[in-house]
Amino acid sequence: MQSARPDEVQERVRTSPTGKVFVRLAGAVDAERAVAPAVAVFDREGPVAIDAPEAIGATAGEVIDLSSHVAMPPLVNAHAHLDLTGIDPIPFDGTFANWAGEVRARRATEPEGIAAAVREGVRRSVAGGTGFIGDIAGGLGIAALEALRDSAPAAGLQGVSYVEVFGIGKASSRGVEFLKGLQAQVAHERGGIRLGVSPHAPYSCDDTVYAAAAELELPIATHLAETLDEDRFVRDGSGPFADLLKSVGAWTPALTGWGRGPVERIQPLLQGRGAALVHLNYLNEAGLQMLVREISAARPSVPVYCPRASDFFRHPAPGHAPHRYRELLAAGVPVALGTDSALVMGSAPTLSVLDEMRFLWKRDRTDPMTLVAMATVHGARALGVHASAVRLPCRSARGAAAVICASVRGDRSTSGTLQCLLESSEPTQWLWRPVRS
Ligand SMILES: [Zn+2]
Repeated sequence: MQSARPDEVQERVRTSPTGKVFVRLAGAVDAERAVAPAVAVFDREGPVAIDAPEAIGATAGEVIDLSSHVAMPPLVNAHAHLDLTGIDPIPFDGTFANWAGEVRARRATEPEGIAAAVREGVRRSVAGGTGFIGDIAGGLGIAALEALRDSAPAAGLQGVSYVEVFGIGKASSRGVEFLKGLQAQVAHERGGIRLGVSPHAPYSCDDTVYAAAAELELPIATHLAETLDEDRFVRDGSGPFADLLKSVGAWTPALTGWGRGPVERIQPLLQGRGAALVHLNYLNEAGLQMLVREISAARPSVPVYCPRASDFFRHPAPGHAPHRYRELLAAGVPVALGTDSALVMGSAPTLSVLDEMRFLWKRDRTDPMTLVAMATVHGARALGVHASAVRLPCRSARGAAAVICASVRGDRSTSGTLQCLLESSEPTQWLWRPVRS
């Protein structure tokens, strides 16, 4: 048996006389099951099987020892802002509108600067085992969309670029016009990245903008029920977001609120379209029940929880319930994970939902298999990616398997191996990835 680094396996397979390589692993896990130990079999097309040693049988051919490593499918980051990578940290003063204003002032606005930020975001994503991403291309962001399409294939990344749109009050018709012209401006898919659309948030988009976005039949994402200020604005039109709209000249006297909460206002406009509903930090009972009722639809909405971002912005506010992701999951709602922007995690070397899984394990002791499902098959639903792409062995024309390095000294049981993976802080390495030129 030979030793090798995970990232050497692909080359070993290529040069193997038999074209077949067996890799001994500490374990393997996907949303359906975990096995420990495990053996992975590769041929020149990619992973053939990953299973318990007795299920694989005799290992005739080259055998590589990676028995301190756990194999996982490539991860799905259902909500990122790659174009905000590389900005110096912006302290949070307690008011989201102030923080967002500072981001607007500092973000790249020229195509070269945007492309550099996206490239760095892609690099950090792939370094963290991300195979699929739902990226928000900020501020009517065709530049960010094209930058992702340029850099994703060589990195082995696929997914959706949601072009962000704003339009409320006086700016509403401009948002609708932008959406109407969007599909004439950009291709539906290039470089493995599909076109999506993202009405920014309930305090920055009118119902007409949400409806126009839904009509496009593209992948769709929106920030929703993120802050108490948003909840206040949606209910009665008051508060910091009304002040913000007045300061930018978008406010009109008609913005007196909708008399209900953000989910109750927006879910009916997007239901049945597999919409990514991002954050849901303040989800009331009526909103929760709407999401539960929607799971019988062919394409229900997918809540996307960004745990470290929630924590960075100090949610929940005192006196409010913790995030309700576990209640949603228990009711059968497929909650996915997102990182949000790199701004909420400082200079972390990776941009990965594995770090979100580790955060939730540490804070909530969330069931490890549930965390794996959130980071793979649930995220895949939000992005419209077939589940087989994120289930081992991930065999497909574009299949890939990520390997997570985790020390498994001591308890080598299945649960012990999974726990080690979540308690480790080691980054991922790719065992196989579908790099395209
Ligand atoms: Zn976001």
